[in-house]
Amino acid sequence: MVLMGALRAALRPRQMDTQVRVARERYRMIVESAIDYAIFTCGLDGRITSWNAGAQAILGYAPEDIVGEPCARVFMADDIVAHVPETEMRAARDGISVRAERWHHRRDGTRFWSSGRMLALRDSQGQVIGYLKILYDRSVEKDARDALEALNAELEDRVTERTLALAAANEKLRAEILERERVGDQIRQSQKMEVIGQLTGGIAHDFNNLLTAILGALEVTRRRIDDTRNLRLIDSAINAAQRGAKLIAQLVAFARKQNLQVAYLSVNTLVEDMRELLERSAGSSVSVVFDLADDLWPVMADASQMQTGLLNLAFNARDAMPNGGTLRIGSANIHVEMAESDLTVGDYVTLLVQDNGTGMPKDVQARLFEPFFTTKDVGKGTGLGLAQVYGFVRQSGGTVRVDSAVGEGTTITILLPRSADIEGDGERVIAPG
Ligand code: ADP
Ligand code: MG
Repeated sequence: MVLMGALRAALRPRQMDTQVRVARERYRMIVESAIDYAIFTCGLDGRITSWNAGAQAILGYAPEDIVGEPCARVFMADDIVAHVPETEMRAARDGISVRAERWHHRRDGTRFWSSGRMLALRDSQGQVIGYLKILYDRSVEKDARDALEALNAELEDRVTERTLALAAANEKLRAEILERERVGDQIRQSQKMEVIGQLTGGIAHDFNNLLTAILGALEVTRRRIDDTRNLRLIDSAINAAQRGAKLIAQLVAFARKQNLQVAYLSVNTLVEDMRELLERSAGSSVSVVFDLADDLWPVMADASQMQTGLLNLAFNARDAMPNGGTLRIGSANIHVEMAESDLTVGDYVTLLVQDNGTGMPKDVQARLFEPFFTTKDVGKGTGLGLAQVYGFVRQSGGTVRVDSAVGEGTTITILLPRSADIEGDGERVIAPG
């Protein structure tokens, strides 16, 4: 506008008319040849006042169809009031060239994505008299961009889906590997116990025979001696031989080479009968808690083996709690749903002995039931307690489970099969298998 004013001042009227005409013609040429751009103007009433060849090519309307029509016809219906946001109009009126991207309608109803500019048109006084719009068709880019975004989103979804599936498969595989290791360990453990059992059985048998002979000879000798000094010597020899016989009995139990005197047995009654003994042997710093289930099923078991076993478990628990703690003795009915290497599916009665003592490292847990395995000082442990428990429980059709963590404590659980039948006299002998 400033330039035009200066021109007008410098030129004479006729000359100026010619110059203006030439300039107008030039601008018209530029506008008409810019066929890649839709260039159109509209008045303040929103009606279209001019329409270039580019607008015709892009929007499909010939000038004679659209000039005089509301500008709104080429905007998408979902655009805002007057199809141009008020903020853009205001900005244009303030002399700012407004850039915008949006959807437009073509004459055939298809839409296209435009990138465009809007400027205010002014009269010689600078009053806004309408707007100029220049649009460029960016539909292809927009479609490509949208497709790319959609593809990215889909890819992301698929990657997420796949990652989740892989994680699940991985988790399953790890669980399977762990399970296989666990079963492998269990099988190796029971094979080891089997071999040790056979060895121990042979040795115990021979020792038993030797001890019987030694004890017999000692008894006979005793009857023939009458001086007190020699009698005391013989008595201590008999005593030692009897202690040996007790150890052999535990070995025999481990090797399952003994006759078990099984009878219907209520584990709860057995525990109740031993309550006082258990409390006394636990010592004053250990509190004993009884947690016996109601309606416990009966089992078929050798009561004296059970008593020896329970007492030994309680001793072990006490030994593991030198600074005191809680010894819990509990019973329960359980159903085993999956067979394991040492357990068939069915109903079992459990007797558990739990302490919150030192617990055991894995290497001790692995050797726990071996005869003569002890971590206790000489004279304090024989290493036969758990061997006896394990042997007689296995011979009775049950098994023993160990759950222990260093610093937390140990739970030893005896599982004995539920007795199916409570009729009859219930007395029976389980001979060594
Ligand atoms: P002993 O008591 O004569 O050592 P056992 O067969 O009863 O023999 O136990 C073997 C070993 O198992 C023990 O020396 C001890 O190391 C470990 N043990 C058994 N029970 C427990 C327990 N409740 N807490 C910690 N360790 C235990
Ligand atoms: Mg012991």
